[in-house]
Amino acid sequence: MNNAKLFIISAPSGCGKGTLIKELSRDNEIFNSISCTTRAPREGELDGVHYNFITREEFGRLAENDGFLEHAEFSGNCYGTPKAPVEQKLAAGIDVLLEIEPQGAFQVKAKMPEAVMLFILPPSISSLDRRLHRRAQESGETEEMIQKRLSTAKGDIERAYDYDYVMVNGDLDKAVSDLKNIFHSAKNGGEGLESFKAANQKEIIDEVLKNA
Ligand code: 5GP
Repeated sequence: MNNAKLFIISAPSGCGKGTLIKELSRDNEIFNSISCTTRAPREGELDGVHYNFITREEFGRLAENDGFLEHAEFSGNCYGTPKAPVEQKLAAGIDVLLEIEPQGAFQVKAKMPEAVMLFILPPSISSLDRRLHRRAQESGETEEMIQKRLSTAKGDIERAYDYDYVMVNGDLDKAVSDLKNIFHSAKNGGEGLESFKAANQKEIIDEVLKNA
């Protein structure tokens, strides 16, 4: 039987999800979907590797022709998951991972209720704030841009209550082990994942938001 699963991971920017996903992909056969976006590439980002960087016109055409599994606007740019590769991989029995923001995540869940939704929380808003400031020193982002990211992050975290599972990226080793545990157990029906269920992480989400 084809047991391939679709995993959706959302996390605010600056939360360190890239490192976690790299660790998960290292020893698991999992297809990381490459999104289309209308935003400009950042330094070091390659077309066709990190994203398919396309124009608004191309994006609009793809959307009209039902080329996306989901798409959304985030921080003034369009992002979308190409539908065909995801469907092909799942049909071939390969697990698929989408790393997308909440609007898109809920669109996918509505179409494919068996998809597993995971939200990765920062340990606190102040840790996110520190990380975004550190990153901005390298990228040259302005304070205004950082504040916009923080406010978007808060809005995203408010949606964590409705995900299937929620985990915290505090200690890196623990977070990698939690992510692998969630991935493997969710593939086998979700046994042993009670503590990660969003309903059981409510106080942690409350706590992160309280200090926001
Ligand atoms: P960034 O521009 O920092 O790479 O990504 C901004 C946000 O867009 C992140 O939350 C990321 O998860 C999300 N994102 C990336 N690709 C997609 C996509 O295909 N669809 C949606 N809905 N969000 C995406």
